[in-house]
Amino acid sequence: MTEIYENYEVKGECTFKIGGLLKKAAFPSSLDDFIELIKSKEYDMVLGNCSNVLFSSDYIDKKIIFTKKLKGYEIINNSVKAQCGVRGPLLSKECANRSLSGFEFLIGFPGSIGGMIYMNASAHNQSISDTFISANVYDVNSDKIFELKKDNMNFGYRKSILQNNNLILLNAEFHLKTENKEKIEELMKRNIEFRRQRHPSLSTGNAGSIFKNPQNDSAGRLLDLCGMRGAKEGGACVFENHANFILNKDHATSTDVINLMYKMYKKVKEKYTIELHPEIIYIGNTGTKEQKLWEEMK
Ligand SMILES: Cc1cc2nc3c(=O)[nH]c(=O)nc-3n(C[C@H](O)[C@H](O)[C@H](O)COP(=O)(O)OP(=O)(O)OC[C@H]3O[C@@H](n4cnc5c(N)ncnc54)[C@H](O)[C@@H]3O)c2cc1C
Repeated sequence: MTEIYENYEVKGECTFKIGGLLKKAAFPSSLDDFIELIKSKEYDMVLGNCSNVLFSSDYIDKKIIFTKKLKGYEIINNSVKAQCGVRGPLLSKECANRSLSGFEFLIGFPGSIGGMIYMNASAHNQSISDTFISANVYDVNSDKIFELKKDNMNFGYRKSILQNNNLILLNAEFHLKTENKEKIEELMKRNIEFRRQRHPSLSTGNAGSIFKNPQNDSAGRLLDLCGMRGAKEGGACVFENHANFILNKDHATSTDVINLMYKMYKKVKEKYTIELHPEIIYIGNTGTKEQKLWEEMK
């Protein structure tokens, strides 16, 4: 069954806790229903757990499929097969319980399989591409489903083939290594502790790192040197402990976040002639002032 809502309030769906009303939202609960919705061509895009997105606070004239209910997975020996909506922390724990190593980094952030493969998510010297074997994708252009192997995925830093080719990930398979369970759990604990000390907690709205790291440098380091920690625009503010995070401190709007990002972008550009580009994805209407600022940073 698919749940469908019109004029849906997206604020509650994303980790930033920002967003206005969305024209239409669909939540399929099986892969067959998901495929039917994609095939209908009625929808503009697919989202996972919305932990890397900034929705506009205005009315959003788009129709979006959310994969949150596609939660099926199976783990047999060293093989993990998961539907696109399965969340990383759950898989991380399930694999640790079976002494499987490779997903320890997933314990720390709330991405879905689809979103993580789209972004080639990584942290703590592990990335989703390390264990990736293959995925079934729906090609919106040809209306065909086919399998992509790792070699076809064009994985790079925050990059995969899904970003340029109108391909929707249905499910994926991974191969993990057998490892001592205590060792796996120890690494997961260290990852959580690292985040507790340096990253904001999800109880305050945020979407993880705001800008991608430029080549051979760190966006956080550059923003720090520009004195951006604590900078504010309306209800949005740069995290005091790490300058590449923006917090929704006090009912921030998407305009607050984009104005603050633009300030950060300008400072780094003026001081170091380096252009930072957003890691997060903006979802709003074309032709608005905030969308124009976004295009300039993209
Ligand atoms: C507190 C916090 C910490 C974070 N730390 C990290 C980190 O350490 N490393 C890191 O890499 N990221 C991190 N992130 C960012 C985020 O969790 C990742 O980018 C994650 O991969 C996004 O997954 P998602 O399901 O939330 O994707 P969404 O935000 O829902 O979508 C992201 C993109 O993926 C596309 N997409 C989603 N599902 C599919 C699908 N089935 N098929 C095709 N395209 C799809 C969407 O269209 C969109 O363009 C963090 C975020 C937060 C809030």
